[in-house]
Amino acid sequence: MTSPQVISESVIEPGTGKAIELLQGQILRVEQIEGGQCADFNCFNLHDYKEFMHCGRTRTVHGFHPTKGSFMWSAPPRERAMLYILEDTVGRNDVLFPRCSAYVYEASYGFAVHTNCHDIQAEAQREYGLTPDDVHDSFNLFMCTGVDADGHAFMTRQTTKPGDHKGFQESNHQDRPPAAARSELYAGVPKYADRGHRAADPALGRGSRDVRGRQAHRHLWR
Ligand SMILES: [Zn+2]
Repeated sequence: MTSPQVISESVIEPGTGKAIELLQGQILRVEQIEGGQCADFNCFNLHDYKEFMHCGRTRTVHGFHPTKGSFMWSAPPRERAMLYILEDTVGRNDVLFPRCSAYVYEASYGFAVHTNCHDIQAEAQREYGLTPDDVHDSFNLFMCTGVDADGHAFMTRQTTKPGDHKGFQESNHQDRPPAAARSELYAGVPKYADRGHRAADPALGRGSRDVRGRQAHRHLWR
């Protein structure tokens, strides 16, 4: 196989997001530039916004940490494999935690105003006519989580390095519409997280604000 051709590449600064169209045969790579970052990821069918990735269905099929070889499923009544995880150098992702929001930061941590994944995601999706109500539960890339003995979910600091990455490909199932209609819309959003979540999590210490991480989205032809 020849090397994939790079179609586009962009750097996602902390606290920002970007919507990307991924057509059949293309690969989306999300890569760490400086390491130590998470990304909230949403995925919609480009031609039917009511079909989107469903974290509940996905974790039932692939567990709490879907990685290479897993599919990202949409909800019933469509319930189809939308994306395939082609590569994953870290093997850590999360489908337990919902996106953070302005309400969470205000109610739980006392920040009257705070950047949050819901608002970032809504802004990134807005150019496709989607509204804040359309943001769905996030697939949390690179995020390290678990469940304690009492059944509560927890998160721990992740230790990704520059160059760590994940690759996503449209799943190309035969029961789906033909090529041109099979494209999907992606919105990948880096969490403010190493800032927001760490600052907000009492267990990890409040007030740590060194935001240094960035991520790149690389868009490839296979
Ligand atoms: Zn967040």
